[in-house]
Amino acid sequence: MSDKIENLINSSVGKKIMGALGVTVPTELLRYHAQQPNFFSGALLFGAGNNAQLVDATLRNLQDSDASLALTTECAAQASAAVETTVAERYQALVFDGSGFTDGLQLIQAYRFFNANIRKLRPSGRIVILGRPHMNCATPEAAAAQRALEGLSRSLAKEVGSKGATAQLITVAEGAEANLDSSLRFVLSPKSAYISGQVIKVRSAAVNKTADWHKPLAGKIALVTGASRGIGAAIAETLARDGATVVGVDVVQMESELAKVMSRLNGLPVIADITSSDAPAKIAAALIKAGGADIVVHNAGVTRDKTIANMSEQFWQMTLDINLAAAQRITNELLSSGALNDGGSIIGVSSMNGIGGQRGQTNYAASKAGVIGYVDFMAKSDELAARNITVNAVAPGFIETAMTAAIPLFTRMFGRRLNSLSQGGLPVDVAETIAFFGNPASRGVSGNTVRVCGQSWFGA
Ligand code: NAD
Repeated sequence: MSDKIENLINSSVGKKIMGALGVTVPTELLRYHAQQPNFFSGALLFGAGNNAQLVDATLRNLQDSDASLALTTECAAQASAAVETTVAERYQALVFDGSGFTDGLQLIQAYRFFNANIRKLRPSGRIVILGRPHMNCATPEAAAAQRALEGLSRSLAKEVGSKGATAQLITVAEGAEANLDSSLRFVLSPKSAYISGQVIKVRSAAVNKTADWHKPLAGKIALVTGASRGIGAAIAETLARDGATVVGVDVVQMESELAKVMSRLNGLPVIADITSSDAPAKIAAALIKAGGADIVVHNAGVTRDKTIANMSEQFWQMTLDINLAAAQRITNELLSSGALNDGGSIIGVSSMNGIGGQRGQTNYAASKAGVIGYVDFMAKSDELAARNITVNAVAPGFIETAMTAAIPLFTRMFGRRLNSLSQGGLPVDVAETIAFFGNPASRGVSGNTVRVCGQSWFGA
């Protein structure tokens, strides 16, 4: 949905002119396609600080990839099994295990690793830092050292973003090492192309192994609200690509669009306004008939922008109801009626504006911040934990959809560049993150709000 000026800028002539003017020209991001052999291929350099605890868990995963591995001396010393290593001139990924740091000054080892190797990172490359949740540390010094990894990874993300490369931190709780799998795969793969500067928290949970990483959702039922267009249609498509049967919901005005998307994906359309009083029961009944939901994606959302002095009560209330309250009523009904299966996933769609706020969007930002609060609270529920149900959210930034195409041209051109990757994301980038949350191997991933924003310059 790019416009003509944007296409001109991204042409080879345009790039030369913009380069000469000193304007950042975005690097085209590598995205996943289903024919790819595995989650990661290319040369990967793995380093570790003193007492690193995630070396074996990481190597176990990488042996399953097409990575040609190189290990730093410290890392090789900490690996329990001998690993064949090949030193490369350039790397597709740099992975560093800082989980053993108990003092801020020990981070000198991370500095040395990145100082020596960051120039060897390829365009669209990946940086992954591994650590422990700082609040679980035994001493304040260790908590500080682990939290320091977050500042390091977010800053590295800003240094490599102009090359289309990303950096993330994964924190793994003690005892959750076996759950690292899906998060490591996701951040190393092209599926995370538009995610950068994020922290993904992995916790203990009974994890189901994924037999086929190309069809991790085979046999699963996924509910997607607002599935007829934009991000919702991309979510439906991506979940179906991964093997799920999609139950798509949209309003009656979108009936024919929804029917087209669902017939293409062999999905089941349900016409409902999610705010209507009978919608929760209608959706629950359709899901029970289909075999019960394994993945629930609350994607339907609207904007009704006005500064607060000019905003009507109607604009305020309908935005809060569609974006927040309706999703809660549906979740309650799915839980109480048994329409949500054990081991399932509830996924909210928040927004960067819910994190950073936005002029003229008090209603929208309040609703989207509410989504994060709901996810944080629900992820702590003992009842859901006992049923191995995870609750997470995505917070998209500037995504190229009908919603953002309606923004005036120059504001739009400016807006899509306000992030480390200097470009807007695609609906599929949001969808890939949702598929990652929905993967049965991601039962250790709960209570996360992952921003899909190319590391937006705004927001916390
Ligand atoms: P969109 O307007 O293209 O699609 C939203 C869909 O939700 C539509 O099909 C619409 O008919 C449906 N919907 C709206 N109200 C409904 C209701 N009451 N009942 C059932 N369905 C309803 O929007 P999009 O850009 O694809 O956004 C999808 C989600 O992503 C929204 O929650 C939005 O807030 C969020 N988001 C989008 C962006 C972006 O850049 N596009 C950024 C951040 C967050």
